[in-house]
Amino acid sequence: MAEGCDVQYSNWMTQQLLERRVPLSGLLELTSRCNLRCVHCYLGPQERHWDAKRRSRELSLDQWRSILDEIAEAGCLYLGITGGDPMVHEHFPELYRHACERGMLVTVLCNGNLVRDSIIELFREYPPLDVEISLYGATRETYEAVTKVPGSYVKCLNGVRKLLANGIPVQLKTVLMKLNGHELPAMRKIAEDFGVKLRVDSAIFPQLTDQDQAPLVQRLDPAEAIRLEMADPAIAKAWDDQVQRTAAPSDSLYRCGAGVTGFYIDPFGNVSPCIMTTHRRHSLLERSFASLWARELEQIKRTQPREGYGCNSCEMQMACTSCPGFNYQENAHEDVKSDYVCETTRERWTAIHLARRPPQPARAEGWAPLVWGGRNGVKVEKSA
Ligand code: SF4
Ligand code: SF4
Repeated sequence: MAEGCDVQYSNWMTQQLLERRVPLSGLLELTSRCNLRCVHCYLGPQERHWDAKRRSRELSLDQWRSILDEIAEAGCLYLGITGGDPMVHEHFPELYRHACERGMLVTVLCNGNLVRDSIIELFREYPPLDVEISLYGATRETYEAVTKVPGSYVKCLNGVRKLLANGIPVQLKTVLMKLNGHELPAMRKIAEDFGVKLRVDSAIFPQLTDQDQAPLVQRLDPAEAIRLEMADPAIAKAWDDQVQRTAAPSDSLYRCGAGVTGFYIDPFGNVSPCIMTTHRRHSLLERSFASLWARELEQIKRTQPREGYGCNSCEMQMACTSCPGFNYQENAHEDVKSDYVCETTRERWTAIHLARRPPQPARAEGWAPLVWGGRNGVKVEKSA
C-alpha cells in the first residue's frame, strides 16, 4: 500500500473509533499498594493502602477476571496495568495472563524492583507490549531519597537488566522534582547505555485520594523544569512539531480521549474516564461496563466550562499539558486552571519560539542594537 493510502486509512480508522466511542485503551490500577514510599506519590502515604480493612475491599481474582472479559468484549485493545506496583498484587500473574489471552496488548507500569524469575517466565510466554519502569534518580543516594527504601536503586536497575536480557521491551520514565532534577543528564545516560527510551515528566499532582497538596513541595521551579525538559533535542523537536498543529475548536471542557476511547478502573471496581477524573467514578459492582460506558462515562464530553474559562481560546494550548482533571485535583474545580501548569507552559512556549529564531547576522564593529521602549522606557540609539 502506498504511504499516502496508509495515512488515509489510519485517519479514517481513528475517526471511526472516535465517532463510535470504542473504549480502546484502558488503565487498570490493580492495587494502590506499593513496595516503595516515594515522597511525591499521588497515592499518598502507603500505610493507608496496606491497611487490612481497605485491602479487604480490593477486587477478588474472579471479579477482576470478569471485568477483563467485559472490557475485552467492549473493544479494549491497549491495556495498561499499574499500581501502586502491580507486581505487589497476589494475582498479578493470573490477571496479566488473562488479559493477554483475551487479546489485549498489555503495558505494565511498575518500579522494576519486583521483577523476579517467575515474572520473566510469564513475560517470555506472553510478551507485554512494553514494561514502563520509573527511574527516580541516577545514583543510589538520589533514587532512595525519593523512594525512602534502602536497596531499591540496585533492585530497580537489576529489574531492567533482567527484562532486557530476556528480550522484553522496556521504557524508562522519570518524574522530575527538586530531589532529582540535577541528575537528569545522568539518567539520560543510563537509558542510553541500556539502549532504551527515557520519558521525562515534571507533572507532580496532589494526592488523588484527598487532594492533599503535600507532594507539590517537590515541584521544580517552572523555568528550571522547562530548561531540563528542552535540553533534550528530541523533546524540543516534538514540542515544536506539536505547536505547529492547530487545536480543533471545541466548546467542551474535556478535549482529550477520556471517556471517548479511554477509561480507568481502580482497585475497588470503580470506573472513571481517566485516572485524574476519579470524582466521576461509577461502580462496576453495580452496573456493567458496557452500560456505564454508554451512558455515565459519555457525559464527560458534554461538560462545558463556566463563562470566563480561557484555556479553549488560549494561543499556547498546543504547548500546554493542562487538563480539567488535573485542575480539579489542584483547585477543586475542573475549569480553574493550575497556575503552575500555566506558568510552565509559558516557559515552554518561550523556549520553543526562542529556539526557532533565525540566526542573527554578525554585528559590525561599533554597532549596537536599537532598542525601543526598553524596561525603563528609554530609546537606546545606535552607538557611534
Ligand atoms: S513507585 Fe509509584 S506507586 Fe510506588 S510509591 Fe513510588 S510513586 Fe507511588
Ligand atoms: S493553562 Fe494557561 S497556558 Fe494552558 S491552555 Fe490554560 S491559559 Fe493556556
